[in-house]
This record gives sequence, C-alpha cells and structure tokens, in this order.
Amino acid sequence: MTEESQNEKLRQHFARRVTTQARVVLDTWQKIQDNPDKAATWRDELAIATDKLTRYARRFDMADHANAGERILQALRDWPSHQPLTDTLAEHLEAGFADLRCTTRRQTDPADGAEPQQYRRTPVYIALPNGDLAARLIRQLEFFGFRASAFHTADELIEACALNKPETILVDVNFGGGPNSGISMVERLQARHETPIPIIFVSEDDGSIETRLRASRCGGEEFFYPAVDPGQLIEKIEAYTHGNNIEPYKVLVLDDSKAQAKYMETVLKKAGMVAHIITDPMDIIRALEAFSPEIIILDMYMPGCTGMEIARVIRQQDKFHSVPIIYLSAEEDVTKQLQAMSLGGDDFLTKPIDPKHLIATLHNRGRRARSLLALMIRDSLTGLYNHTHTLHLLEQEIVRAGQKDEPLCFAMLDIDYFKKVNDTYGHPIGDRILRNLSMFLKQRLRKTDHIGRYGGEEFAIILTGTGPEGARQVLDNIRESFSKLQQPAGEREFSVTFSCGVACWQPGESSQALCERADRALYKSKGNGRNQVTIACN
Ligand code: GH3
Ligand code: MG
Ligand code: MG
Repeated sequence: MTEESQNEKLRQHFARRVTTQARVVLDTWQKIQDNPDKAATWRDELAIATDKLTRYARRFDMADHANAGERILQALRDWPSHQPLTDTLAEHLEAGFADLRCTTRRQTDPADGAEPQQYRRTPVYIALPNGDLAARLIRQLEFFGFRASAFHTADELIEACALNKPETILVDVNFGGGPNSGISMVERLQARHETPIPIIFVSEDDGSIETRLRASRCGGEEFFYPAVDPGQLIEKIEAYTHGNNIEPYKVLVLDDSKAQAKYMETVLKKAGMVAHIITDPMDIIRALEAFSPEIIILDMYMPGCTGMEIARVIRQQDKFHSVPIIYLSAEEDVTKQLQAMSLGGDDFLTKPIDPKHLIATLHNRGRRARSLLALMIRDSLTGLYNHTHTLHLLEQEIVRAGQKDEPLCFAMLDIDYFKKVNDTYGHPIGDRILRNLSMFLKQRLRKTDHIGRYGGEEFAIILTGTGPEGARQVLDNIRESFSKLQQPAGEREFSVTFSCGVACWQPGESSQALCERADRALYKSKGNGRNQVTIACN
C-alpha cells in the first residue's frame, strides 16, 4: 500500500469516528425531543457527547463538525444541569443540530428532497468486520428510511446502545477479532439492558450447534450461516423493526362507572393504545361509527341494559361482526361467564383487573383480529392491499373527494422488463424486488395515500388530496430514487426501473373509467421508452 493510500485510509477511519459520534449526539437530541418531560435527565449526557464530538472533530480537522459542536455547546451553557428544557432554549439548540445534520449527511445522499422525508426514530446498529459490506447495508437501509450506524469496536457499540437503544443489531459472531468475540460482546451488552435487544447474527465459518445455541441464548433472533446476502439481511431487519412500528390498537370501552372508565383509559393510554371511553350504553352506535374500534370492552352490568345485549346489537352489524368483544365484570360465576361468551363475546376478564393481564389480552386479541383482516384485504407477498381492496378504497375515496371537493389521483406502476429480472436472477430475487418496491413506496408516500398490489408486477396508488402536478412530482421523485437503488443478487448488483401512468379524477367519473385512463397513460410511458411518469389527458 502506498503511503498516500495509507494516509487516506487513516483519514477515513478517523472521519468515521467523528461521524459515529455525531450520530450519537443526534440520537440523544432525538430522544430528548421525543420525551420532552424527561429532557432534564439527558441534559448532561448530551453535553458530554457533544463535547466528545467537538474534541474529536477538532483533532481530526473536521471543521464543519467542530463548528456545529461548538454551536451546540454554546447553547447548552444556557441550560443548567437537571433543569427542564424551555422552548427558546430548544430553538437555539435546534439551530446547532440543523448544522450538524447537514454535516453528517453522506456525500452520496442527494441534497434535494429525494431522500425519505421521515426517518424511523429508533436506529439500527451494525457490527461487522467487513467495512465495505457495512457501508453497503447502511446505504440500502437509508433508502428504506432506517437510521443505521456501523461500529468498529465493541466499546463504541455498547456506549451507543446505552445512549439510544436500537431496534435491532446486526452482529458478526466474530466481531472484535476473536472466535465468538461478537457473541461475548452481545452477552455483555444484554446484561446492561432490562429487555434484550433483538440481534441478527451472521457467521462466515461457524454454524455449529454450540455457537447457534449461545447466540440464541443472548437474544439472537436470527442466525445467518454461511453466506450473507444483503437483500435477505435487509428484509430481516425490516421484519424485526416492523413490530415496533405497528399502529396502536383502537379500543372502545363502555363502562357506566366513571371511575372505572377513567382508570381503563389511563391503563390503555399508558400501553400506547388509543382509547375511546363511553359511560352511557345508548352512545354505543355513535361511538362505533365515529371511532371504528378494533377491540371493544364492555362492562357486564349497567343500568338499562347488560353488556350481553349490547354485544348482540353490535354483532347485528356486518361491519362489526368480527371485532373482538371482551367483557369486564366482577361476575365470578363461570356459568354466567360462559353464557355471556356464547352471546357474541370473545373473552371475559374479572374485576379488579391486573393492568398487565388486560394489556396482554388486548394485544393477543388485537393481533389476531388484524391478521384475520389482513388475510382478507392484503397481498401476502408484499403486505400491500390486494386488488379487490384497492378498488374498494378507490370507490370510497372518490365519494370523499366528491363530498369535500378535493382533488384525487390514481396511479398505476408497472416494473420495466421484469420478466428479464426473473430470467436472469431467478424468481426469488424477482419476489424480493416486488417487496423492495413495496417497502420503498410505503416509506415515501403519506399515510393518507393507499398503496395496492394490483397484479403480478403492477402496483396501484391512490393519492388523496393531490392534483396532477403534485402527483407527478411525488411519483417522479420515487421513480428516480428507486431507479438508483442497487438491488443485491448474491455477489452482483443491478437496478430496476418502473413506468407509471396517472389519472386525476374528474367529478362524475366512475372508478372504472379512472383506472382505464391511468392504464392508458401507463402504456404511453411504456411506449415512450419506459422509466417515466405520464399524466393522462382528460
Ligand atoms: P414491461 O416493461 O413491458 O412491463 O415488461 P415486463 O417483462 O415487465 O412485462 P411482462 O408483462 O411481459 O412480464 C411480467 C413478468 O412478471 C412475468 C411474470 O413472470 C412476472 N411476475 C408476475 N408476478 C410475479 C411474482 O409474484 N413474482 C415474480 N418473481 N415474478 C412475477
Ligand atoms: Mg405487467
Ligand atoms: Mg412489467
């Protein structure tokens, strides 16, 4: 190695330490912003981390980082230890963090708005001896909206976990140099955390039962041996982080006792659920309509009617036929409990109820109800809405757009030359492209948009409140950034494009006519050379 390239390597090594530290600082700030009432407890941590960043950056001649660090430290001087964070102070600090964010943006990141607008809050950490692979994974993960950081030593990783617990860590069993030193590190790490961090282990050359057992005992959820395919890794990471991002369950509680209802509300909210409380049984129909609960908790005995009678009324409506109903009562007579269950209830909990027990029951019921619903309305390969449900949503949105006099666009996407992808790389890689595109769309579209898998390699998107120019901008952005994404296939990488046709709904137009116009626009895109977005003429 020439002296010059050795110097360059060293410079890169130090630069990484600075950017890793910058990410630690940014993570701490994020944590403070997520929990403003606990800001005081993290003030010192933030100061220490920023100080370290500034010292490193100065030592390694990274002026932008050093300046941003100084600016944050300056603002921190006005924030005494253990004091709450005021709005003015937060504003001053944010200015420094904005500088820091600009400096930590990778050079390969596009400077325009093409990156995902919103990163997930919890990071993913990577501990692999192969720096190139780690860098490649980070690039890919960032495309999917993850905040990922790679670490070079066990200490750095453990320190970062203490500051900001990651959703998952990808660890090589030999990370750190020795045989199984990666597992030892995870054992030490988990001992510091009350609930274990899910770990995805990879192993180049040891797939023995002893190693697998040890890995599994310290929180290893997955064990990849021997070869690591970055595509597979990203899917696993997506799977492990998905659970943390689930939408909160919507729970409707009917209990005539105000005190009991209030207590339930507190317990549910604390568990991160969305609670809607009513104390008058006569309000039930209105509450069902307005709130669309996923789970219903009914008190057994109320003045005027019983919970069982209410359950029967709920079950008479098709829409709420499969919503789980849980009775809550002081009734201990098992015969009466059974009778209540036979009348449309799914579970019976006796008061006084242990909050842990209640929440566990709600999670189980809610998960099951959702997975049954998903079987009906979602596509199993991508998790997107299936064809039938997408059309159903389109009908609904057309009605809504008409009522509110708002624009609405319908887009159809079709992957270009997909048959060739299957022929060249195999069907499983083809499937992965479909899942990648669906993750990509989910990440970059708004929650109010609906994304469906329309057919084999065709997708449909309903863009609510969006006119033709807005739709073109969003979709063209997605098209361009997706085409830049490197799709891994074993040792090789390739890229894929899609074509798109968009039609903007016109008052009075049927959903079928709208779909046909979008379809024709899509075929115009194909005919004009693919990898483009065409807006349908009226
Ligand atoms: P064009 O640019 O004109 O759209 O070309 P194309 O090759 O993408 O279009 P064509 O309609 O000829 O081929 C679509 C291919 O998509 C054929 C089919 O095998 C593949 N496909 C459809 N569904 C799936 C699936 O679920 N998984 C995989 N791997 N391939 C699929
Ligand atoms: Mg097709
Ligand atoms: Mg195609």
